[in-house]
Amino acid sequence: MQPAARPLAPTYQDRRWELPPDAVVRHGNVDDAARVLESRTLTVLTGAGISTDSGIPDYRSPDSPPRNPMTYQQFVGDDGFRRHYWARNHVGWQHVHRTHPNAGHRVLADLERRGVVRGVITQNVDLLHEDAGSRTVIDLHGRYDRVICLQCSRVISRAHLAERLDALNPGFVESVLDGGTTVADIEVAPDADAVIERTSHFRPADCEFCGGVLKPEIVYFGENVPRERVRQAFELVDSADALLVAGTSLTVMSGLRFVRHAAKAGMPVVVVNRGETRGDPLATVKVDAGVTETLTALAERL
Ligand SMILES: [Zn+2]
Repeated sequence: MQPAARPLAPTYQDRRWELPPDAVVRHGNVDDAARVLESRTLTVLTGAGISTDSGIPDYRSPDSPPRNPMTYQQFVGDDGFRRHYWARNHVGWQHVHRTHPNAGHRVLADLERRGVVRGVITQNVDLLHEDAGSRTVIDLHGRYDRVICLQCSRVISRAHLAERLDALNPGFVESVLDGGTTVADIEVAPDADAVIERTSHFRPADCEFCGGVLKPEIVYFGENVPRERVRQAFELVDSADALLVAGTSLTVMSGLRFVRHAAKAGMPVVVVNRGETRGDPLATVKVDAGVTETLTALAERL
């Protein structure tokens, strides 16, 4: 069985950016990062890179297959697209519980218990920080286990929707998986013809209260993060002495703005990520290394 992907994080990887040619990046190692962060309280901003060791693919890493980001407009405006989306999502959902937090998530939960970490702002929708025991978590881009009606705004659990989709599509999940299509295929190659063919008879569910269109409570490309959530996230950044960024290339402004905010306020910023990030020129120290091992080593020094 392929490693299960929790259903359907937003896919932003196609937005291109480059660091300015004159950008100065202060590269360092774990010790340098520890010197910056010791005796300070931290707010942590995380992205896909912290979940890759849990088997959730990081669509932006260089060896990932190309993938078009689904946009909010596609989801809302195209019945066929939406049907296909829900079909994939429904199959992926069956495997949600196969993913578990890794050492990176656990280290952050420990640091929160020790009073070092104030809270986590995550761009992931996988809830692995919560699973690891983190208590103050802002799920910036939403969470995979909830569904919202675009008409009446009622929120229902994904588990409840799963029951309705099973009733509308008896045997669907089994037929897809029996056909040799793995969950990973469905997640990673949404445009593959074979998968589309298998989902053409899928019946999505509408809101049981008003008949409106249901959407995962996840922020898609082309959508804004709810204002109140953004406000809480800024508040969390302001409540700490430093900002630690882990496992995100900060491709989208929804995350980058917190780095800009912290840097502007004179807070130390440490960025841990394998590969360049858009926040590198703002970092007090940039550690270009894997997230799990770096966070583990860092926690021992804090
Ligand atoms: Zn409704």
